Amino acid sequence: MPDAPAAPAESRVPAEPAGLPDHVDAVIIGAGFSGLYMLHRLRDEMGMTARIFEAAGGVGGTWYWNRYPGARSDSDSYIYCYSFDRGLWEEWEWSERYPEQHEILACLEHVAERFGLNRDIEFSTRVTAATFDEAASRWTVTTDTGRSVTAQFVITAVGALSASNTPQFPGAGTFGGDSYHTGLWPHEGVDFTGQRVAVIGTGASAVQAVPLIARQAADLTVFQRTANYIVPARNGPVDPEVKRARKGDYAGIWGRVRSSSFGFELYFLEKGALESSDEEIERELMDRWNQGGVGIWLGSYGDIFFSDEANAKIRKFLNERIREKVHDPQTAALLTPKGYPFGCKRNPLDSGYYETFNLPHVHLVDVKANPIAEITPTGLRLTDGTEYEFDAIVYATGFDAMTGPLNKIDVRGRDGQVLRDKWSDGPRTYLGLMSAGYPNLFMITGPQSPSVLSNMPVSIEQHVEFIARIIGAVRDRGAQAIEPESQAEDAWVAHNQELAQASLFPTADTWYMGANIPGKPRVFMPYLGLVGPYRQKCDEVAAAGFEGFEFTGSTDKEGALA
Ligand code: NAP
Repeated sequence: MPDAPAAPAESRVPAEPAGLPDHVDAVIIGAGFSGLYMLHRLRDEMGMTARIFEAAGGVGGTWYWNRYPGARSDSDSYIYCYSFDRGLWEEWEWSERYPEQHEILACLEHVAERFGLNRDIEFSTRVTAATFDEAASRWTVTTDTGRSVTAQFVITAVGALSASNTPQFPGAGTFGGDSYHTGLWPHEGVDFTGQRVAVIGTGASAVQAVPLIARQAADLTVFQRTANYIVPARNGPVDPEVKRARKGDYAGIWGRVRSSSFGFELYFLEKGALESSDEEIERELMDRWNQGGVGIWLGSYGDIFFSDEANAKIRKFLNERIREKVHDPQTAALLTPKGYPFGCKRNPLDSGYYETFNLPHVHLVDVKANPIAEITPTGLRLTDGTEYEFDAIVYATGFDAMTGPLNKIDVRGRDGQVLRDKWSDGPRTYLGLMSAGYPNLFMITGPQSPSVLSNMPVSIEQHVEFIARIIGAVRDRGAQAIEPESQAEDAWVAHNQELAQASLFPTADTWYMGANIPGKPRVFMPYLGLVGPYRQKCDEVAAAGFEGFEFTGSTDKEGALA
């Protein structure tokens, strides 16, 4: 893409004082995968002034905070990374099939170093508010350090799973032992040797952490509200031949993942489960089970997301695997998911999770039938009065997903409207990128985009590149701002809901639906239209002159403001 000319609005911006700038073209919130690439794109390829504010003490986003034992991506290393710089992709060596937290963090630190990004990042600085000034057509971004910066554009790169959720159990503050949240793990690590440990929650974080905590703890009790369908990761070193072949297929790999359904090199079978015999299904699923990874979920039968009858065939297969792995029939029964379809709750990958429950010092407690009533000074008490004593409690209780990180910021658009008020019944966006009434405010992998239903770096890169393209168009047209037309937003919201309602996803109580946060509106948040078609839709919107968006403050042929 050619460099865009400097924005006319910028010529009216006061000169920057020495030291930190108070006025920039763009403020980016967050220095994870999305924020870092956005900064590089705007600053180094479009010649804009840009500043990242980052609450953490370093780059990395999710991978800065989530340092719990076993933390790694469930996407294969070779596609859980940036593709925008071919040299970077070809040079970087991952040690295993799935990248571990410290390796992903090291990669992001390397990227920040390679492109000199750190000089435009203010660390340990949390954005508290962003307010749009209609007269100046600029945003004022304020932070918890008292800094206030104005910008023509604001890009939220805050991640979909960055607002940690710790349930408000009565007495939580009274616990005399140590408490941890998986998403806010101490950097120095935690040694559980000889301790009695509780893990609350059984999502993807717990599934990774439990086997490793069990290796250290003297006694481990896992409190499960909802059993998950879990499939094997089969992590390990990648065959050097496979690695070599991949390095030689940059264009092929990225072409395929970008046009795929979920940002992986995975495709649904042509025949659905309903059209297949039990023997065929068993063979196909066993093949994916043995390969490990998300293949059973995102690369087997497409009809499992729409037909409960089809879905039941996968559930039967997975339930049999649980009974094979878990020795105690009662524990196996408790670990067997009930009451919701496979694949409609995020499917974690395990490395020894089920087997951990065969160890004599590991216990599983059902807190659906008998919820946690309170945290006590020595442990916790269940509703039926049963008490447990612990030295440490690990909250693997997840996040206020997708809208949570945005709603933590006091975002005020036209007429002072607060974004979280506008979204009180659920998110309202056009393309999951912008919300009407919030000119020049972009969301990377926001709600109503494929986001968490995809391999995130693929969706992040697409959004960063599309946002850069939109900003380029604003500047090319000599406009001051862009925002969605409200009809386009209404149509996109309706389209999202139609897709979700046609699927089984809303039948499961999940964080996709906001169901894990008391009081949160029940709305399916990610876009179900899939990665490839979504990318195509964005390209079509751009080709049609950014259809559905309105440019404002532009000059017409005579130079008058439109
Ligand atoms: P999560 O999937 O939301 O799991 C939270 C767990 O805490 C659930 O089992 C939940 O039960 C339980 N819980 C919440 N409130 C509770 C309460 N009041 N009482 C008892 N249990 C309670 O969170 P997560 O495991 O951190 O994962 C979140 C997402 O982050 C994943 O789905 C994934 O997208 C991403 N992630 C990815 C990876 C990876 O790629 N390997 C690793 C970790 C996380 P319910 O199910 O009943 O709500």
